[in-house]
Amino acid sequence: MADEGDQLQSQPLLVLNEGAERVKDRDAQELNITAAKQVAEAVRTTLGPNGMDKMLVESGGDITITNDGVTILETMDVDNPTAEMVVEIAKTQEEESGDGTTTAVVVAGELLKKAEEILDQNVHPSAIVGGYRKASERARNELDELAVEATEERLLQLAKTAMTGRNTDLDRDHLAELVLEAVTETRDSNEPIEELVRTEALTGGDVADSHVVKGAALDEDPGNQDMPTELSDAKVLLLDEEIGVEETEADANVSIDDPTQLQEVLGSEEKLMKEKASEIAELADAVFSTEDIDDLAHYYLARQNVLALDDLDTSDMEFLSRVTGGGVVSSPEDASSTDVGEASIRTENELLYIEGDSDAVTLVLRGGTDHVVAEIERGVKDAVAVVSRAARDGKVVGGGGAPEIELSLRLRDYAESVEGREQLAVEAFADALDVVPRTLAGNSGDDPIDAVVELRNAHEEGDNHAGFDADTAEVKNALEDGVVESVAVKQQAISSAEEVSNMILRIDDIISAGDLGDEGGGGGPPAGGMGGLGGMM
Ligand code: ADP
Ligand code: MG
Repeated sequence: MADEGDQLQSQPLLVLNEGAERVKDRDAQELNITAAKQVAEAVRTTLGPNGMDKMLVESGGDITITNDGVTILETMDVDNPTAEMVVEIAKTQEEESGDGTTTAVVVAGELLKKAEEILDQNVHPSAIVGGYRKASERARNELDELAVEATEERLLQLAKTAMTGRNTDLDRDHLAELVLEAVTETRDSNEPIEELVRTEALTGGDVADSHVVKGAALDEDPGNQDMPTELSDAKVLLLDEEIGVEETEADANVSIDDPTQLQEVLGSEEKLMKEKASEIAELADAVFSTEDIDDLAHYYLARQNVLALDDLDTSDMEFLSRVTGGGVVSSPEDASSTDVGEASIRTENELLYIEGDSDAVTLVLRGGTDHVVAEIERGVKDAVAVVSRAARDGKVVGGGGAPEIELSLRLRDYAESVEGREQLAVEAFADALDVVPRTLAGNSGDDPIDAVVELRNAHEEGDNHAGFDADTAEVKNALEDGVVESVAVKQQAISSAEEVSNMILRIDDIISAGDLGDEGGGGGPPAGGMGGLGGMM
């Protein structure tokens, strides 16, 4: 019985209904590889400092101008399952390491292009998958070996490199210093960097006015204009409850017959609030809550010279807890003196600065327009992730295609020790890595082939870190040139590219359900079938 049931359930997949399609073997691979290569093609021209920007227009009319691979891919409305796999890998790359998304996608595209050539020689996909896995593992190990110490100077150069190619070019030196300053503050902590370093973007003003705050910078107004906004060594109470006339009392059915009674009710509410405010004032100079603080409470708190902010985000509250060292409590009565935090508070350019003695910092970023600040914020966030990781790992590598060329040469040597058809795949992997310097040169308007030949010569002559300098279009030692990259990002980019390529190569059968359960499809699958493959981009 159970068998029959299982069979029945799996039947609709194989007995294809009208409009359903099935593509197998080489055709399936070809379709998938084409889709993945198209995604790579879409971001290729943004790679490196001379990469171009993309203007993304969303259906609602929102415009983003960016050079950031993952932002482009996320915004692009990709309607193809294989292309989506590539986009997913870019997102993972971004989440895990904060950078290297374009590299991962471009390398994946090249790995699949090379795989196609091997498939044409009737090599079974599993040999390619195996060879690619070996090559990727080897490359990551070699990269560790190639890495050099992450000195302060190199971390600063790493921050600059991580921000290249964006609008941050405006003031990259200054922003890189801020990134390093922020990361240095958090150096002794093992907490995730996102919890220690925040950004606050402020449109208006100059990029040069961006700065690091030891603490929080909130875009919030005090609940009452008479509240103090300059407080040094203030005691801070953090609440996750509202302050106001208690629900129960407000709901109670008090029948009021004459005005004096009304006066009494209001009077008792006021009295209660006044008492609560003095209770808080005894504990703290500032009170912050994730819930509502009503007007009456604000009024009495202001009279007691207490600063109050309400309706804060939970994430803001967690950060404030870190900054002030205070715990979040549900009522002032629960606050033992150790729960009360400490901070100095001031206002500057409409932001409330809450500075404390902790390793939590905020990068206040300024720029002339929304687009500029948004791009700066993306760049700075990535740089913070990359630099903090490298600082913790203690090592970096050169950039400008230097590691790719070196790994490519080392993989070619390694290939000789690999048996059978997998050897072809290891060689293909080695060739594929050249796509990075080739694209960097091409995007700088230089001859890609010449650049790769020159780079290879330099490496063969012993300069392990010879890279392409995008500013001068010359081959230079990347470390001396100050083009520095994170080992972790590079390793992650290599494994991301390998994983998505292998995932795609392992597919030998695409079954699309056609109209099944898809109402309003009407005209069947689009031309080219397979979920709109033909219509991609
Ligand atoms: P990704 O999304 O992969 O990080 P980017 O557009 O940030 O893509 O480009 C990163 C590549 O650009 C890396 O290979 C890096 O070494 C290279 N790069 C950055 N700055 C320079 C430079 N000044 N000269 C040459 N290459 C550079
Ligand atoms: Mg980058």
